[in-house]
Amino acid sequence: MRKNFRSKSINDTFIKEGNCSAVVVGASLSGLMTGIALSRAGLKVTILERAGAKPRSGAVLQVDSGEIDRTKTAKFLRKLASGGYRSAEAWSSIQFRLRTEVEADSRIDLRYDTRVQTVNQDDNSAWVVTDKGETFHGDILIGADGHRSIVRRYVSPHKPNATFAGYLIWVAIVVEKDIPEKHRPSLNAPKFTMPDGIGDFLLGSIIAGADGSTALGDRRLGWAWYDNTQNDLLRRLGCVEGDVVQHLLHASDIPEQTLIELAEKASDRWAQPWLDAILHSIQTRNLIGTPICRVRS
Ligand SMILES: Cc1cc2nc3c(=O)[nH]c(=O)nc-3n(C[C@H](O)[C@H](O)[C@H](O)COP(=O)(O)OP(=O)(O)OC[C@H]3O[C@@H](n4cnc5c(N)ncnc54)[C@H](O)[C@@H]3O)c2cc1C
Repeated sequence: MRKNFRSKSINDTFIKEGNCSAVVVGASLSGLMTGIALSRAGLKVTILERAGAKPRSGAVLQVDSGEIDRTKTAKFLRKLASGGYRSAEAWSSIQFRLRTEVEADSRIDLRYDTRVQTVNQDDNSAWVVTDKGETFHGDILIGADGHRSIVRRYVSPHKPNATFAGYLIWVAIVVEKDIPEKHRPSLNAPKFTMPDGIGDFLLGSIIAGADGSTALGDRRLGWAWYDNTQNDLLRRLGCVEGDVVQHLLHASDIPEQTLIELAEKASDRWAQPWLDAILHSIQTRNLIGTPICRVRS
């Protein structure tokens, strides 16, 4: 959403003088990155996040392939998110680096525990109203609020939600020490692998330990198993309603029988170290099912 730029002449000089402001809804990876990019362009930025400041956990992301970055800001963000490592990275490490950058930026005001309830705009500005009754105005308003975006509901009321893509990804991170030593990968094992299963596939990545150590035994194994056989379960548990994703399939909600079947399937499909990593995640209920959705306009 953006205000009618013809009503005031907004140009590079106007922005650089700090006259322009933006409100970003959502402080996950997209919201944090967008906030940093807008601040670098000279805007005053307010980022509003409904969750608290407590660090959140995830699995892993690949953020190192910067060949298509054309602008200085894109290169800066890529380096910031990846930490300069050319490997997959823990989601939580990426979020931590972005948050640290945002919190050190005096042009960005990041507010946690702030749920946006309504959005609106007129010719002069766009604004949001939060659950605390506060109103935040901006020359532009960015929706980085995920798959059931309140901003998208406003700008695209005919198609407000992303559509369930028909599969989920099981994700987890396992500390290398938690699998038998004989199955731990060697120091020169590929950091990223993508084996095919039986109508499904796995992404496996070896990442540094939480303290940054890459020594044998200290590293972590991140795995993501693409699975299109759980759609009935997702609907039964309310994770998906109609074609709209409602929420993740949290470890505590995964039925025992599903875990048993997953362990059997894993044994039929995956080689070490991924098999042991997956079995450990199943035994300790340290995995999340992420129903995947895609946005169509
Ligand atoms: C905790 C977490 C862990 C994840 N782990 C992985 C992973 O390991 N691997 C992977 O590939 N992908 C992971 N994902 C998904 C991945 O982060 C996203 O694909 C990527 O971050 C881009 O999504 P996004 O920033 O657009 O939206 P999302 O990550 O979905 O974030 C949307 C943000 O908006 C906030 N929000 C929503 N509604 C409102 C509102 N009304 N007011 C204020 N704030 C609002 C949410 O709390 C959330 O922080 C994870 C997502 C989360 C939230």
